[in-house]
Amino acid sequence: MGEPQLCDLSVPGRQGIRFPQPDVPLSDLPPAGLLRDELPLPEMSELEVIRHYTRLSQLNYSIDTGYYPLGSCTMKYNPKVNEETVRLPGFAYAHPLQPVETVQGSLVLLYNLQEWLKEIGGFAGITLQPAAGAHGELTGVLIIRAYHRSRGDHKRDKILIPDSAHGTNPATSAMSGLRVVELKSDARGNVDLEALKLECDDTLAGLMLTNPNTLGLFDENVEEVIRMVHQAGGLVYGDGANMNALLGIVRPGDLGIDVLHYNLHKTFSTPHGGGGPGSGPVGVAENLVDFLPGPIVDVIDMGDEETPPLYGLVQPPKSIGRVKAFHGHFGMAVRAYTYLVMHGAQGLRQIAEMAVLNANYLLSRLRDTYHLPYDRVCMHEFVLEGRWPEVPDVHALDIAKRLMDYKFHPPTNYFPLIVHEALMIEPTETESKETLDTFADAMLKIAEEAHTNPQLLKDAPHNTPVGRVDEVKAAKELVLCCGVSALDRE
Ligand SMILES: *Cc1c(COP(=O)(O)O)cnc(C)c1O
Repeated sequence: MGEPQLCDLSVPGRQGIRFPQPDVPLSDLPPAGLLRDELPLPEMSELEVIRHYTRLSQLNYSIDTGYYPLGSCTMKYNPKVNEETVRLPGFAYAHPLQPVETVQGSLVLLYNLQEWLKEIGGFAGITLQPAAGAHGELTGVLIIRAYHRSRGDHKRDKILIPDSAHGTNPATSAMSGLRVVELKSDARGNVDLEALKLECDDTLAGLMLTNPNTLGLFDENVEEVIRMVHQAGGLVYGDGANMNALLGIVRPGDLGIDVLHYNLHKTFSTPHGGGGPGSGPVGVAENLVDFLPGPIVDVIDMGDEETPPLYGLVQPPKSIGRVKAFHGHFGMAVRAYTYLVMHGAQGLRQIAEMAVLNANYLLSRLRDTYHLPYDRVCMHEFVLEGRWPEVPDVHALDIAKRLMDYKFHPPTNYFPLIVHEALMIEPTETESKETLDTFADAMLKIAEEAHTNPQLLKDAPHNTPVGRVDEVKAAKELVLCCGVSALDRE
């Protein structure tokens, strides 16, 4: 490890701050049994501490410092205007326990965001509570379960999940007590209709569908898939983490999807990847609105000519209960709402068009050099194979690591699982053609290096503060505390 730890910089007796003389009487120390003899805190000057943390912060890779084509994660630009609105004092200093009469502005914002998300997805109701995509999935699957139980349909405990799904889908289904059955994809990357037919029986609770799926492909039979599940009495859950290909073009609700989560921190530009908490609102069709977790913002008094409408918080009658304290991550709601208002309905459609265009442009530059296992027009992302039969020692991981030498964040790799040595690339709509070209050039150069000097890839990254890490060792021998490791050394 090249980077010094704080404790390595410590000099005995050096002080960062000096406390003023106390202006209150000194009290006794706590009893001896509660005191430590030794506390290995680093002793440093304030300037040294500032330099240490500022230097560390500059080692971070972020969307603000470079291209970040992390497939499925939608690392688009997080507009700075979002940060300005969320810091407006009326939003920033609102307290969740204030009487609703005193926070009408914040409630109107939440209400409007619910309305936008209903319209975008074609849903009848929205909860803004879930804290992330996976949390939205758990919420949605619990709603599906509650719906069947409310009808006395207790046999339904099976949930179907295509093999192209995000790993969170089977995880959240299992957590909610449902039985997960994996569905195969067909040769074109669609749900295999024959496999689906075999599973459509009276134990079917639902199907979790990611569309476009994690291959970046729109399921060509989506309406038939949904019809089959509905006919068997099941509901369809849509994984809407990435809505970048659909905004303003297709509404999942219109396709027949019953429940769907959005990731405000992907499609709707709120920060993620260490930049802030997520937010995973869930939209539902009419027959599921009563099951939503509360509170939901609604107009509780229409008002009249003199008084404006009053917004308040309501609990749906058959609610599965709260899934989060208060109203979810309010700051993320403000940022996402800003993004929606800044773009407007037409702008949202353009986002989808540009995201798909950028992905197909990049794909067209790479497809002759990297094998494309599912050869179709892609949506907002695509999956290549990071291997060539003539250089069997080179793997997707080596390509990913070598990209870091070219100052790019690597794409998602080894996911989806149905592609060997997968490299999953999502450019997003916020990148310029020049950036896409520089990235494509680097990918082509790496392919050439793989054939002429594979060791260059094997040893990569060469220029990062930490080289190739032993990922197994990191998991088996956790060292999380600088103080403890300093003690160990003595
Ligand atoms: C990111 C993602 C999720 C999970 O979202 P989190 O906010 O990370 O929990 C689920 N499904 C898909 C397809 C995703 O891309």
